[in-house]
Amino acid sequence: MLIVMQAHATEEQVAAVCSKIEALGFRAHSMPGAGRTAIGITGNPGALDTGLFDEMKGVGEVVRVTKPFKLVSLEVKPDPTIIRFAALKTDSGSNIPEATIGGNELAVIAGPCSIESRDQAFAVAERVARSGAKFFRGGAYKPRTSPYSFQGLAEEGLKILAEIRQRFGLRIVTEAVDDDSLALVEKYADMIQVGARNMQNFALLKRVGRSRLPVFLKRGMAASLEDFLLAAEYVMSEGNYNVALCERGIRTFSDHARNTLDLSVVPAVHRLSHLPILVDPSHATGQRFQIQPMARAAIAAGADGIMVECHHAPEKALSDGQQALMPDQLDHLMDDIRRIATVVERTVAAPRAVTEVANVATR
Ligand code: PEP
Ligand code: MN
Repeated sequence: MLIVMQAHATEEQVAAVCSKIEALGFRAHSMPGAGRTAIGITGNPGALDTGLFDEMKGVGEVVRVTKPFKLVSLEVKPDPTIIRFAALKTDSGSNIPEATIGGNELAVIAGPCSIESRDQAFAVAERVARSGAKFFRGGAYKPRTSPYSFQGLAEEGLKILAEIRQRFGLRIVTEAVDDDSLALVEKYADMIQVGARNMQNFALLKRVGRSRLPVFLKRGMAASLEDFLLAAEYVMSEGNYNVALCERGIRTFSDHARNTLDLSVVPAVHRLSHLPILVDPSHATGQRFQIQPMARAAIAAGADGIMVECHHAPEKALSDGQQALMPDQLDHLMDDIRRIATVVERTVAAPRAVTEVANVATR
């Protein structure tokens, strides 16, 4: 059930409705919007009597939510969710303004598949910062198909990522695979990635739902749209409303790409949910030559941004080198999406003059 407050409802009236919901033993999720506040109710085993709230002061409407997901839906929150990352200062004193995911500016998250060494990560980060991208990705915990493949540098990798934030002013997005890695990711990073293989790890979803950090939720490779939105609902039901979705390709019979990029999910998500959705053309295609065309298409389709792998020496990469853009290609891609963004009335940050050079030998 959803309680839509009147446009002029006071904070006290909203609080009174929330208290009543909690007193009934349920959870209240207050979602302030541009025009009005809506309060979602979760934890109720069945339909509630609308009369419980109809008469309360400030209540506009009591609505039964018909979809299986509530908090992710546009019924609860008609305005797009904008995830905000506070302004920061680099070690050398540059002021880096606030960054957003889901606002008018498209978010670009770029970086290597794995953090392999400080030199490698810094070399890529310098180029990512110059390209204008505001978010740096790189795995310290890698969910690899084979137990014998490189598993990531764990906390050592996270420390490198935290240094990159301070040196280049890039926000850090990195994957957590379980409770232990999540506790460390929370210590060092700005956003928690939940990978495709963990999209239905419900215990992990609930745990990230209790985190103070925003969540980057990748679509499972066999997940329907409903599965995907319900995974986000798990996170939100625990009180963390800062969730960005990511389409990263699904398994089909097609064999000309690693996965099949399901771009039609972008408008389908926007029709049902206020959450931002980004597209990862690297994992969706698995091949460098397909990344740029699919990234362009993603922006044209209305995605809120892209996550793309990038490596300065992809032939030496310890994971996913074949689907990493070279830094010059990232610059070209940024130029392309800057132009396409104007058609969909979005913006892309300009290239940045980065004074903080990586200052490390490239391997
Ligand atoms: C990744 O982003 O490096 C990754 C492992 O992605 P996915 O979970 O989509 O396979
Ligand atoms: Mn990867």
